[in-house]
Amino acid sequence: MALHWALALHGVITVLVVVSFLFGHWPIFQHTFVERIHYFITFGAYDYFLRFVAVVFGARVKNSILRIEYYCCDRPNPILQLLFLGILGGTYYIIAKSSFHYLPGFYVSELHKYISIFAVVGGIILFILTSFSDPGTVNAENVSQYISSYPYDNIIFLEKECPTCNIPKPARSKHCSICDRCVARFDHHCAWMNTCIGERNTRYFLAFLLWHFVICLYGAVILGLILAGQLKEHKIIYILTVYFDIEESFYSLFPHVAQWLLSAHNTQILLIVFLTVIGLLLAGFFVYHAQLCLTNMTTNETFKWQEYLSWRRKLNEAKASTAALKASLQAVSSETKSSGSKCSRLYRKSPLQNETVTKNNIYDKGILRNVLEVLVPLSGRPSFFRGKTL
Ligand SMILES: [Zn+2]
Ligand SMILES: [Zn+2]
Repeated sequence: MALHWALALHGVITVLVVVSFLFGHWPIFQHTFVERIHYFITFGAYDYFLRFVAVVFGARVKNSILRIEYYCCDRPNPILQLLFLGILGGTYYIIAKSSFHYLPGFYVSELHKYISIFAVVGGIILFILTSFSDPGTVNAENVSQYISSYPYDNIIFLEKECPTCNIPKPARSKHCSICDRCVARFDHHCAWMNTCIGERNTRYFLAFLLWHFVICLYGAVILGLILAGQLKEHKIIYILTVYFDIEESFYSLFPHVAQWLLSAHNTQILLIVFLTVIGLLLAGFFVYHAQLCLTNMTTNETFKWQEYLSWRRKLNEAKASTAALKASLQAVSSETKSSGSKCSRLYRKSPLQNETVTKNNIYDKGILRNVLEVLVPLSGRPSFFRGKTL
C-alpha cells in the first residue's frame, strides 16, 4: 500500500514539475506556487548555485562558470546541434540494433530497413538546410529592397535604425544579439539550429518540424507493429486464453500482454514512449508555427503585439480614470441639483472604457498568399530586386 502512495506522490511531483517548467510563466499561474516553481527551475536554482560556488570556491570559479554560460547561451555555438545529431543518430542506432532483426515480421516488411534510412537522411538534410542557409540577413546592399517589401505598420514597427549594424531597420526585422546581425521577418533565434529563423529559412524550419513529427510517428507505429507481430508469432493471446484460462476480452488480457511485452521487449516499449513524447512535442511546435504562417505572423511579432495591446489597455484605463475624475470634479464644482444622484455620476463609466483594442496585422494577405510568402520568400522573387512593394 505504501508503495502505491509513493508511486502516486512521485507521479504528482513529476506532473507538477513538468507543468511548472513548461507553463509556469503563463499569466494564469501568476502569484501561485506554480509560478514560484517555474522561477526556481529556470532562474532561482542557478542563481543559488552561483552564490554557493562564490562562497565555497571563490569569485574566480564563479566567473569561469559565467564565461561558460555566456558561450553556451549568448554566443553562436554548435552544442545543441551536436546534441540533436547525437539523439537522432543514437535513437536510430538503438532501433536498428534492437529491432531490425525482427524484420521482416508478421505485419511489417523488410523494406522498412531502407525507408528508415531515407527518413533519417531526409531529417538530416532539412536540419542542414535550416541551420546553414541564410535566414534573411539584412545588409547595406539589400536593406532598401527589404524596406520596400515590408512596409512599416507604425504600430509595432516604426522607422528606425539598428544601432549595431548602422543601417535602417526594415519592418518585421530584428537584430539578433547572438548572431550579431539584423534578420528579415525575424521569428526567433533557434539554439538547436544555431541560427535565426527568419524570412528565408522559415520554410525549412517548418519542413524540419513536420518531417521529424512524421518520422517519430512512423517509428512508433512500425515498432508497435513489430510487437504485435511478436505477440502473434509467440501465440501469446492463445496461450493466455487456453492455458491460463484468461477471459478473451481487452480488459482481461491487457495487463498480462503488457507484462509480457515489458519483460520481453522493454527496449521497444521505451522507444515507442520516447518517440511518442517527442512526436507530440514536435506536432505542437509545428501546429503553432503553421498557424503563424497562415496568419502571416512571427513569434517575435506575437510578443510585440502582446506588449502593445497590454500597453494600450493600460493607457485606456488610465485615460478613462482621468476622464471620470474630471467629470466628477466638474459635477461637484457646478453643484447642479439634478435628478441623478451624485454617486452615479461619480462612478459613471467613461466612453473610453468601452474602446476595444484590437490587433491589426497589415501583413496578413489571406491564407494562400501568406503560405506562399513562407514557401517563396519575398527576397527570392524577381520583384524584390526591382524594389517593388508586394
Ligand atoms: Zn542589426
Ligand atoms: Zn540569431
